[in-house]
Amino acid sequence: MLQVQRSSRKAVARCVLRSSRRGYASGSEPYDAVIIGGGPGGYVAAIKSAQLGLRTACIEKRGSLGGTCLNVGCIPSKSLLNNSHLFHQAQHDFAKRGIDVSEVKVNLGQMMKAKEQSVTGLTKGIETLFKQNKVDYIKGTASFVSPTRIAVQLNEGGSTEVEAKNVVIATGSEVAPFPGGAIQIDEEQIVSSTGALALQKVPEKMVVIGGGVIGLELGSVWSRLGAEVTVVEFLGGIGGAGIDEEIAKQFQRILQKQGIKFQLNTKVLGAEKKDGKVYIKTEAAKGGKEATLEADVVLVSVGRRPVTEGLNLDKIGVEVDQKGRIVIDDQFNTTVQGVKCIGDVTFGPMLAHKAEEEGIAAAEYIKAGHGHVNYNAIPSVVYTYPEVAWVGKTEQELKAAGVQYKVGKFPFAANSRAKTNLDTEGQVKFLTEKETDRILGVHIIGPNAGEMIGEAVLAIEYGASSEDVARTTHAHPTLSEAFKEAAMAAYQKPIHF
Ligand code: FAD
Ligand code: NAD
Repeated sequence: MLQVQRSSRKAVARCVLRSSRRGYASGSEPYDAVIIGGGPGGYVAAIKSAQLGLRTACIEKRGSLGGTCLNVGCIPSKSLLNNSHLFHQAQHDFAKRGIDVSEVKVNLGQMMKAKEQSVTGLTKGIETLFKQNKVDYIKGTASFVSPTRIAVQLNEGGSTEVEAKNVVIATGSEVAPFPGGAIQIDEEQIVSSTGALALQKVPEKMVVIGGGVIGLELGSVWSRLGAEVTVVEFLGGIGGAGIDEEIAKQFQRILQKQGIKFQLNTKVLGAEKKDGKVYIKTEAAKGGKEATLEADVVLVSVGRRPVTEGLNLDKIGVEVDQKGRIVIDDQFNTTVQGVKCIGDVTFGPMLAHKAEEEGIAAAEYIKAGHGHVNYNAIPSVVYTYPEVAWVGKTEQELKAAGVQYKVGKFPFAANSRAKTNLDTEGQVKFLTEKETDRILGVHIIGPNAGEMIGEAVLAIEYGASSEDVARTTHAHPTLSEAFKEAAMAAYQKPIHF
């Protein structure tokens, strides 16, 4: 690994040197494509573009590739989720399996090192991929001089300019500040997700503001490591946008059993630091009853916002909407010819795999004039224990749209593998169109839900019916048999329930 890191570092230095020696400002050949931002959207667009034979550069200001996802998002959070789950299992679950362990302790420093190792390995891996695919990696902050010319403030000092026939903006998102400045994030006691991924000790009491995906994942991490966690959520249910209400209720019950407390229909108004503690002021969401919560650490997880500052979008005429998202058409074109946009900085769910799909499609549009992203088949996964995963429509969405639908459910408590593993919480739920049996949505809460949802995504992508899935052989004994049986339940009847 070290070998790879060293050689890729040299490669990066060469790329940047090469680009400044080429002297883009003095009118040498423009790039076919310049990608601004090296997150999952941007780095995938850059690699695909180079693979399609386009001369490509990617400009990234962070100093490492992989964006939010690899540096302060998906990857470090999943490392802590995985390892805190193992700790929790060793403490609370091993004994019933006949594994006696004594003195299970958290070594937080080591857990953080393991997290950092995963992050560094993966971010450096992308540098290697850039080198292999001949993508020029320019380390610096980009801003538009014109739709085809980009100024770069180099991280190592100085500046350069690059010319591009096509530009893809993939500048991603950042933590949304608490509205009205009523809570100031210091990343030590009042933290965003970034600070919550790097706490130096386990807090005794943690208050999580916002019961969306970040709040539940990182709340779970610190709860498993020993913190008393209270999640305050404005809405009447947890899990964020797109979750099926029935699954959300079951999810909340399971997390409560694990020790997480919830205050729903409750709005946080502000927070104040005093004598080493933080005091969080809340009121009922509909107004009225005020209360104060005390915490050692507060996690503010009330959403993320697009990053466009400093790009000079006004100057070239790229339009943004009221939420600050860059406006695009269905081929990723912004309002300026030759400038495309993908990922968190534009419409759609803020998910790494959505950004990646758009990155590939945008490169294909540049090269060939066509590309493909199916927005009806983008899965969501919450990596708690058990995991929660879904794709397609929820039951409440189908009701609201007046669609006639059928429901097929199968509990993991009736699945042989789940029973064998002593891991039976959760269910698979299919939603199908009543008349045609076409699968409209699949919702899973249970072990391995995040892997299992892939089958549902494929089924929806191919327009499958629940009968198609029900008549497909699934290996025994696997958790995926619960998936098949839920399809059988939607189509006719399951065998084992
Ligand atoms: P980003 O990843 O934000 O990358 C944009 C990049 O552009 C950044 O590196 C930034 O430095 C760079 N940039 C910005 N402006 C400029 C400029 N002017 N010049 C040069 N560079 C610039 N999603 C999932 O699908 N699964 C998960 O498990 C998951 N977990 C998450 C956990 C957390 C704690 C967080 C915060 C997010 C998580 N996400 C997850 C969301 C995921 O990280 C984002 O959806 C994804 O990173 C978006 O990719 P992107 O390329 O659009 O933007
Ligand atoms: P979110 O939008 O998912 O959840 C924020 C929650 O905060 C909402 O439920 C909202 O009602 C609540 N809220 C807002 N203001 C409040 C207030 N004053 N008091 C109480 N509650 C309040 O946002 P997030 O959890 O910060 O996540 C941001 C994005 O990151 C999401 O779009 C998500 O897609 C992405 N992400 C994905 C994953 C994953 O895929 N596993 C993991 C982490 C983050």
